[in-house]
Amino acid sequence: MAPQQAGEAFLQTDNSFHTDKKGEIRFAKGGVDDAEDAEVIAHEYSHAVRDAQVPSYGTSPEASAIGEAFGDYLAVEVESHAAAAYGWPQKAGLACVADWDSIAYSAAPHCLRRIDGNKVYADLEGEVHADGEIRSRALFDIRGALGAHTADRTIANAQFGFAPDTSFRGATLTTIATAQRMYGKGAADAVRAAFKARQIPGTH
Ligand SMILES: [Zn+2]
Repeated sequence: MAPQQAGEAFLQTDNSFHTDKKGEIRFAKGGVDDAEDAEVIAHEYSHAVRDAQVPSYGTSPEASAIGEAFGDYLAVEVESHAAAAYGWPQKAGLACVADWDSIAYSAAPHCLRRIDGNKVYADLEGEVHADGEIRSRALFDIRGALGAHTADRTIANAQFGFAPDTSFRGATLTTIATAQRMYGKGAADAVRAAFKARQIPGTH
């Protein structure tokens, strides 16, 4: 997976993607071949999960960014569980996404993206991967507040209620409501606080 620096031909071919047309994931070659990095595999798989939950998902820029956020969150979660279960190394830290893949094109610590940044809603720039970091930081904070198991269930279940063109506001309110329904007010308050810290509309 390449960073979003279009214009450099060799990078344009180094980009894995999932397509719901055939229900397949294609992993790119170039630099470190993408399928060598389990976090890239988990990220692309997340798109298949989300498309199964909400057919035709991603018809607005914000919805697409929200999808990228889930992909980065799931990548980190898979790495975390694998580290605990199998002793996988985490040399670049938990919040660093695709550190093996990105060793080919970034400075150390090699991170395609991070899910512990400080972006807020006003930092939207119109590039779905970059904008995904707004929501992925909130998801990471929810994980910190509720624990991985409860956070994973809440975040994944909320997606069943997303519209194909969901906004940050809409996805946030659905995630808060899902936490309320599954785990009660304390969990819902923690989820709201995580999104409020990102200054998502509807959280004030
Ligand atoms: Zn993606």
